[in-house]
Amino acid sequence: MFLMELRIRSECPLCSSKNIKRFKKGTFDPEHISSENFNITDSNYGSAWTFFRCRDCRFVFSNPYVPEDKILEFYSGLEDREYNSEAEGRARNFKTILKRLNKIAKPGKTLLDVGAASGIFLHLACRDGYEISGIEPSSFLVEEAERFYGLKLFRGTIEHYRPGKKFAVIALLDILEHLVEPDIFWDKIDNLLEKDGIVVIVTPDINSITARIAGKRWWHYRIAHINFFSLKSILYLLNKHHCEVVLKKRYAWNFSLFYLLTRVFPSFKNKKALQKILKSINLKLQLFDSWEIYARKK
Ligand SMILES: [Zn+2]
Repeated sequence: MFLMELRIRSECPLCSSKNIKRFKKGTFDPEHISSENFNITDSNYGSAWTFFRCRDCRFVFSNPYVPEDKILEFYSGLEDREYNSEAEGRARNFKTILKRLNKIAKPGKTLLDVGAASGIFLHLACRDGYEISGIEPSSFLVEEAERFYGLKLFRGTIEHYRPGKKFAVIALLDILEHLVEPDIFWDKIDNLLEKDGIVVIVTPDINSITARIAGKRWWHYRIAHINFFSLKSILYLLNKHHCEVVLKKRYAWNFSLFYLLTRVFPSFKNKKALQKILKSINLKLQLFDSWEIYARKK
């Protein structure tokens, strides 16, 4: 049988402090995970890694953890056929972001979306006048972006991306919680972001009241989420890389009633007759458990 290679950390991957302590015991066996567990629409909620928390910067990270190259293999092989079925709800989320972004950045400037998925955000950013570029590791999603919106995304990761220019805006929408080494990742962001450039972050907040009340049933506990930020650790990361917060919001989710029901009751996916009507009912959910942060590079 194939078993996953796991590694142990003795220090915080964000601030290198050795002052780390177990935060939560894992709820699944990390030696038996596969690409499907990394689907954006994966509904196996409550699957949490064994997490440690840094007592200095408050970053929460999986420990033991799977090395980055292995995680990237999962993303390259990812075929998320459900992702675009919620395109409308996702587009509403992204329109809110663009409305705020347009007041801070200048449409007409260059914008890079890291982890662009099927290109919904980039498509809207392009309509708002940005000169768009995107990176996406999944071949399947790169093809969807081309098929749906005629976009040519760079297939791969930031590691291998050499655009030969810097960007005025970089979007990291639900990305940071998927990274094995967010600090090393940010060195690459730094190389790609212009001075005075804006970075937009959306990421779950492990320190939110919702997360604390929901406990192990918190919907952000899923295999693809291998680490968690709070406001303190986001500020630590931004400060370390010479970025300052210009706007901070709680992220609200838009999705259809169908999507919500299939999250809670996966068997609903088979109820074809109900799909159309349930998909036409749109919900906006504000759980105050994600951050939407706009920061400027100094
Ligand atoms: Zn730390």
